[in-house]
Amino acid sequence: MSKEVFLCAISNISSGSCAEDCGFCTQSAKHHADIQRYKHKEINQIVEEAKIAKANGAVGFCLVTSGKGLDDKKLDFVCRACEAVKREVKELNIIACNGLANLNQLKSLKSAGVDLYNHNLESSRKFYKTLCTTHSWEQRYQTCLHVKEAKLRLVSGGIFGLGESEDDRVSFIQSIKSLNPFTVPLNFFHPNSALPIKKEPLDEDLALAIIKYTRSELPDVRLMVAGGREITFKTKQAQIFDAGANSIVIGNYLTTMGNKPNKDIQMIINAGYDIAQYCNA
Ligand code: SF4
Repeated sequence: MSKEVFLCAISNISSGSCAEDCGFCTQSAKHHADIQRYKHKEINQIVEEAKIAKANGAVGFCLVTSGKGLDDKKLDFVCRACEAVKREVKELNIIACNGLANLNQLKSLKSAGVDLYNHNLESSRKFYKTLCTTHSWEQRYQTCLHVKEAKLRLVSGGIFGLGESEDDRVSFIQSIKSLNPFTVPLNFFHPNSALPIKKEPLDEDLALAIIKYTRSELPDVRLMVAGGREITFKTKQAQIFDAGANSIVIGNYLTTMGNKPNKDIQMIINAGYDIAQYCNA
């Protein structure tokens, strides 16, 4: 595997107040978590965040909205945000992450300049029913198929540490494999007292084994460690690269804080890896 690590930053451009009931997500209105809530982040602010992300070495910038999926207003907002970032910040790949989407909506995003679409399967088909009752795993899978049909690069992964079994993990990775995504983000549960799921962060060696297994099954994907990295891997964060990850999220997450970007960059360099200069997506 190349010794390059790809950095990606995320911007929560529409936060909280989601009507869905995903048990791991603080943005669900049903859980009343203590998070920031706003409908639309100012486009100027999104552009400023994109400039900072690029200056910090990010090659990808992800526009995330809470909620089940896209409607006309949200689609228009994401397209305008994408166009503004593309105008002002060169050589920064745009990922949109806006929930369930149909083919026409995804084609509109592509026309606006979106390069990749992130939609996670989250877990195995069987286990997902216990995580969310307001939409189905099959709807998520269908959106991933639409992403490919719209000729956007697919970003699809999931979250571990919710009480899923070993079989669930294997089944989930095989489903991801069937979609042949460009990037696979692996998230690790970050406990919050407001959430119905009461689990401690996964043991770091088990989490490293999950990365290794995923890499062995998906040798060619960009394998990203996303949310929950700091709280799960603690002092072993640098080991995620030897385990097979070649991408991380830098800066803050949707509703939780991340490491300072310069600290992560130093960690990557100290581990013997280079920071990728281009996304190549
Ligand atoms: S994961 Fe997405 S759909 Fe589920 S509650 Fe959170 S914001 Fe809503």
